[in-house]
Amino acid sequence: MSAKPIVMKFGGTSVKDAEAFQRVARIVATQGGEAPVVVTSAMARVTDALLDAFDVAKKGDAVSGFTSLGEHFDRHKAVAEELLNDKSRKAYLAELDLAKEELSGLLMRVERRSLPLQMLRDAVVSYGEQLSSRLLAEICKSEGLNARQIDARRLILTDDEYGSAKPVWEETEELIKLELESLLENGEVPVMGGFIASNRAGETTTLGRGGSDYTAALLGAALGCAEIQIWTDVTGVLTCDPRICSEARTVETLSYDEAAELAYFGAKVLHPKTIQPAVDHSIPVRVCNSREPAERGTMVLNESGLSANRIKSIAHKTGITILRISSARMLGSYGFMSALFQIFERFRTVIDVISTSEVSVALTLDNTDQLEKVVTELERLGDVEVEHGNAVICIVGEGLRESSGLASKVFSTIKETNISLISHGASSVNLTFVVSEDEVKGVIRKLHGEFFD
Ligand code: ADP
Ligand code: ASP
Ligand code: MG
Repeated sequence: MSAKPIVMKFGGTSVKDAEAFQRVARIVATQGGEAPVVVTSAMARVTDALLDAFDVAKKGDAVSGFTSLGEHFDRHKAVAEELLNDKSRKAYLAELDLAKEELSGLLMRVERRSLPLQMLRDAVVSYGEQLSSRLLAEICKSEGLNARQIDARRLILTDDEYGSAKPVWEETEELIKLELESLLENGEVPVMGGFIASNRAGETTTLGRGGSDYTAALLGAALGCAEIQIWTDVTGVLTCDPRICSEARTVETLSYDEAAELAYFGAKVLHPKTIQPAVDHSIPVRVCNSREPAERGTMVLNESGLSANRIKSIAHKTGITILRISSARMLGSYGFMSALFQIFERFRTVIDVISTSEVSVALTLDNTDQLEKVVTELERLGDVEVEHGNAVICIVGEGLRESSGLASKVFSTIKETNISLISHGASSVNLTFVVSEDEVKGVIRKLHGEFFD
């Protein structure tokens, strides 16, 4: 193998049915170059269905949980029947039967709580990627590729944080090289499930929702790939969420910094953790559309240049809670901020946006699992107000901090809207603010109209 490999990651919508699987195999065959490395998500809706089945089993009805998966087993079966020859269809259907048996056993264990639930949850949800990757490998073979399914759990070693496990980089890098380099030398095409990994004890872990993008980036970094391709159902990163504004259009290039802000603040098209391994190894990331494979999509690179109006895209995240802590006595004193942050650290709660005044601090949280405990502790520092039902809007573009008049243009465009919190200047690429959830769509449409139409 002389050329550098390319990692090609296909999201759930790119493998939603037989037609989509076939399209993917053709993209790999025609655009994968000399050494494609393929990563796939679970078929669309399967991860959600597995999580629902887990919840039903947890409530004490493993049988109903398992029955609810029937439709999805049938979807896998239908794809195999449509696209595979006799021999590989038989092999795949045997695999599917085994998976059913194992899942039924796991859901029983969930009902009886015979192992830690977090551990069982990851074991259950991993079947989405296990089944889709096996199926895709078989379909790639029938498309003439020398494909081989590889269990990603053997390559990606993580800590024990079930549900959003963190990879142990050095060992993961070594495992990936050890397993994949010789295979690529032999001209084989590895096909792997994204999202799934394992810890030192060999138990299955997962990298967090949308984590297949992260798997792709880890593989790309370890193998020194020429490009990490994220194939999805839209043509690249768009100027805003296309479900809010149908006029959204493709952004041609983004810098790593811009892409990281967009991903973190809700542009679901890229998992936030995808960017770091790419940055660390200067690997370009391309976001492209499996239904329009000839389109270039969006390139994410070290540098992206400025756009005419400085703004590249508008991201948003709903379900945000604001906490306001006021303490006339404490705020100006040493150690107040440190005491505040320690509380969030202790309860493993991430702060997204923060803003301070003379006597108060306002901050936003996305995850409120530990909210009650956090608030109880914060009350030792001052008065605490909690405000649910907000949304963060993040406007992204290189050079935003330096461009005069831009903030005033943004806020005059939405002057009727009440803005609860603003953060500008911490990074040179974003302007972030918080509005009520009910207003978010209207605000984005107005801003998109002003800056992009
Ligand atoms: P996949 O299954 O391929 O991983 P995702 O559903 O995770 O796909 O991400 C793609 C979706 O992200 C798009 O269908 C789109 O609705 C949504 N999205 C939100 N914001 C953006 C944006 N700025 N650009 C592109 N897509 C976006
Ligand atoms: N299947 C997983 C999910 O739905 C991972 C992914 O698709 O990236 O979250
Ligand atoms: Mg995704």
